[in-house]
Amino acid sequence: MELIKVDVVICGGGPCGLMLANELGRRGVSVLLADEKESTAFNPQANATQARTMEHFRRLGFVDEIRSQGLPADFPTDIAYFTRYAEHELARFRLPSAQQAKQKARELKGSWSAAELPHRVSQKYVEAVLRRKAEQLPGVTVRYGHRVSDFEEHAEGVRTTVESREGGAPFVVESRYLVGADGPRSFVRGKLGYRYTGETGVTRDFMGGRMFAVYLRCPDFYTRVPHAPAWMNVTFNRDRRAFMAAVDGKGEFAFHTQLRAHEKEESITDEDARDLFRAAVGLDLEVEVLSKGSWTAGHSLVAEHFQRGRVFLGGDAVHLFTPAGGLGYNTAVEDAVNLGWKLAAVLQGRAAPALLDTYELERRPLAVRNTGYARGFADSLGLITPADEIEEDSARGEAARAEAGKHFDHHGRLEFNIPGVTFGGRYDGSPAIVSDGTQPPADSANVYTPTACPGGRPPHAWLDDGASIFDRFGFDWTLLVLGPTTPETSAFSTAMSRSKVDLRVVRIEDPEILALYEAPLVLIRPDQIVAWRGHSDAYADDIVNQLLGHSKGDVAVPFNAAA
Ligand SMILES: Cc1cc2nc3c(=O)[nH]c(=O)nc-3n(C[C@H](O)[C@H](O)[C@H](O)COP(=O)(O)OP(=O)(O)OC[C@H]3O[C@@H](n4cnc5c(N)ncnc54)[C@H](O)[C@@H]3O)c2cc1C
Repeated sequence: MELIKVDVVICGGGPCGLMLANELGRRGVSVLLADEKESTAFNPQANATQARTMEHFRRLGFVDEIRSQGLPADFPTDIAYFTRYAEHELARFRLPSAQQAKQKARELKGSWSAAELPHRVSQKYVEAVLRRKAEQLPGVTVRYGHRVSDFEEHAEGVRTTVESREGGAPFVVESRYLVGADGPRSFVRGKLGYRYTGETGVTRDFMGGRMFAVYLRCPDFYTRVPHAPAWMNVTFNRDRRAFMAAVDGKGEFAFHTQLRAHEKEESITDEDARDLFRAAVGLDLEVEVLSKGSWTAGHSLVAEHFQRGRVFLGGDAVHLFTPAGGLGYNTAVEDAVNLGWKLAAVLQGRAAPALLDTYELERRPLAVRNTGYARGFADSLGLITPADEIEEDSARGEAARAEAGKHFDHHGRLEFNIPGVTFGGRYDGSPAIVSDGTQPPADSANVYTPTACPGGRPPHAWLDDGASIFDRFGFDWTLLVLGPTTPETSAFSTAMSRSKVDLRVVRIEDPEILALYEAPLVLIRPDQIVAWRGHSDAYADDIVNQLLGHSKGDVAVPFNAAA
C-alpha cells in the first residue's frame, strides 16, 4: 500500500475543508484534502457570503476575486417578496450591487463599519476560487474523487485510508491530525460516535419539512416578469411557497419549494419540477432543469463534541442549520479560520497542544448561537400563513397583501440586515483570550456595537491613507500601539519571539482609533480577534504564555494596569 505523509489530512472539500486548506497551506503546513465528489459543487448551494467571511477572504488576499463571481457587478441584491413572481410584489428590501458594495463599505458607520460588505454569491463559485487558491499553495494536495474510508488514531498521529473513485488499491496517509469537514452525514463524526443535539423535524408552513430544490435555467424570466430583478425572490400564496436565488443574473436560478406531506420527491420528474417553478412564477415559461433534489428544513443541530484527540470536526459535520439568514456555510468557514492558525502554531512548535482544546470551547457555543438565530429567522418567515384572499383581485385581497407586505418589510431586515450576527460572535471565557474584566455589549442579531473588549472582532476603521485597519494587521499576531503616547512594547516582542511567533507591531496615532479601542495596547490573534488590551506590557509574559496554551487560562490583568 502506498504511504503518504503530511501534517494534516482534511476529509471533505466543501467550504470548510477548502478554507482550512488555505489557512494551513498559507502557514507552511502540509495538507492532503480528499473529497469523494468529482469536483467542487455543481449545485449553487449557499447563496450568501456574510461580511465577516468576506473580511477573512480579504485577509487571505482574494476578496476581489470572490466579489467578481456570480451575479453581474451591477445586479441589485434586493430581497423581494411576491404572491407569485410575475404577480403582486409585496415588499422589497433594497441592497447594493457588488459594485456599489465596495463604495458603500467606505461610507457606512456604526453597525456596518466594516472592511467588506456581504456578497450574494452562490457557494459553487466560492468553492471554485477556494480550490484554485488552495492548489496554488506549496504543500497542499487536493484530491477530489477520493473518499476517506477509514482512520485510526495512535499516539503520534492518525492513519487515514483513502480510496480513489476510479478504483485501484486504497492508500494510507500518515498525518499528525485529521479534520472531518465532511458535511451533514460526516463519516468522521460517525466513527467518533458523536451525535447531533438540538432540535430537528420542526414543521412550519414554510421552511420546516421536506424541501425540493431545482437548479434551473430560464432566461425568459427577466423579460417576461414585470418586476425589477432581485437576488432573493420569495413567494407567499396558499398554493405553495418558494424561495429562489438568482445565480448568474442571466437566467440561472436556485429554486426551492416546500413539498406537501404526501408528496414523494423520488416521483418528481423534470417536467413536474418545471411545473413547480412555473406555478411559483405564474407564467408558462421555457425552463431547463440543470439538477434537482430534496433536503430537509427544520434543523438546529450541533454535535456533542468538535474534537477527540488528534481528530477535529468542522462545518456541517458539527452544525446543521435551517438555511434562513444564510449562516451554515459562513459558520463552516469560521470554524476553519479558528482551527487553522491553532493547528499551524501547535504543529510548528509555537504553541502548546492545549491551545487546540480552545477550538471546541470557542466554536461550539458559536454554533449553538448561530443555529438559534437561524431558527428565529425561519420562524419569522415560515410560521406566518397567507390569508385565503391573498391573491384575490378585490379590496379584501389588497388589504391582505398590504398586511403581508408589512410583515415582510420587517422580516427582510430581520433576516438579511444582520451585522450583529456576522460581527458579534465572541469567544468570552476561552483561555485563548485574556479578559480585561470589562463586559461586551449585549448580543443582538441586527445591531453590532463595535468593541475592543477582548474576545471579539476588532472594531473596524478606515485609515487616513484609505487602507482598512485590518489590512495593517500581520498574518500571524499583531500588537496595535494606539494614540499619541508610545508605551513600551518590547516585553511582548520578547515573549512572542521566545515562542518563535511572528508579532507585527503597528503604530497608529489617530486619537479616534485610540478612542474606539479604549486602550493604547491591543493584541490581535491571527484570526483577527482581540486577544487582550491594556495599558502596559508589564504582564506580557503571562499573557503570551496563556494565549499560546503554555499556562492555564487564569491570568488576571487589571484593565488599567500601569507598568
Ligand atoms: C438550500 C440551501 C441553501 C443554503 N443557503 C445558505 C446560505 O445562503 N448561506 C450559508 O451560509 N449557508 C447556506 N446553506 C448551507 C451550506 O450549503 C452548508 O452549510 C455548507 O455547504 C457547509 O459546508 P461544509 O464544508 O461544512 O460541508 P459540505 O459543503 O457538505 O462539504 C462536505 C464535503 O465532504 C465530502 N465528503 C463527505 N464524506 C466524505 C468522505 N468519507 N470522504 C471524502 N469526502 C467526503 C462531500 O463530498 C462534500 O463535498 C444552504 C444550504 C441549503 C441546503
